[in-house]
Amino acid sequence: MSRYHFECFAEQTNDEIPTELVLRLPPNYTIRYFYMRLLVTVEQPLSSPDGPLVILGHQFELLAPHDQAIGVSGLSWNAIIQFFTQNGIPNHVVNEATLRITTCVSQMLQNPNNAGRMLLPMLVLISCRASVLVQRFLATVVVETEGICCICSGRMEVGSPASRLPCNHCYHDGCIREWLNSNPSCPFCGFQLV
Ligand SMILES: [Zn+2]
Ligand SMILES: [Zn+2]
Repeated sequence: MSRYHFECFAEQTNDEIPTELVLRLPPNYTIRYFYMRLLVTVEQPLSSPDGPLVILGHQFELLAPHDQAIGVSGLSWNAIIQFFTQNGIPNHVVNEATLRITTCVSQMLQNPNNAGRMLLPMLVLISCRASVLVQRFLATVVVETEGICCICSGRMEVGSPASRLPCNHCYHDGCIREWLNSNPSCPFCGFQLV
C-alpha cells in the first residue's frame, strides 16, 4: 500500500486560529485540514512548585474541520481519533498525528512560559497534498463520445486522452489537475474525493 502524502502539524497557539499556519502550507496542500484545540488541564503540584506540571486531563475542541466550523468541545482522545478515521484520514496518518500531538503536549508542559497555565490551547492541522488526489483518483482514458470539458468549455474529441474521476466524469488532464489543487471534488457533479 502506498503512503499518501499527508502533513501533520501540532503546536501551541493562542485563542485565535493562526492564519499564518495555513499560509505556511506549501502550494497544493489545501485539501484536507482540521483546526482543533487541545485543552490540557494541568496542575502544579504543591509538593514541587518549581517542578513540571502534572496533566490532569485532555479535552479537545474541534473548531473547523475542512472549511466548516462545527465547534464541538469536550471530545476525548478516542473521539478525535475516530473523527479522523471517519473523515478518511488513513490510519498511519492518524498515528503520526497522535505522535505529533503528544510531542507537542510534552513540549508545552516543559516550556517555562506556560508555568502556572491551566489551559494550553493547541492547534492541530492535518492536510493532504493535492497530488495525492491525482494519483489516487484520476484514471487516464480515451474519449469515446465527443463531449465538452466543463472546466474550460473546450471540446474533448473522440480518440483523445482524458482524465476520469471515480464519478465517471471526464476532463482534460491539465484542467482537472489544476482544479484538484484547490477543490477536492468533481466540478460537474460535486462528487467529494475526500
Ligand atoms: Zn478542459
Ligand atoms: Zn462527477
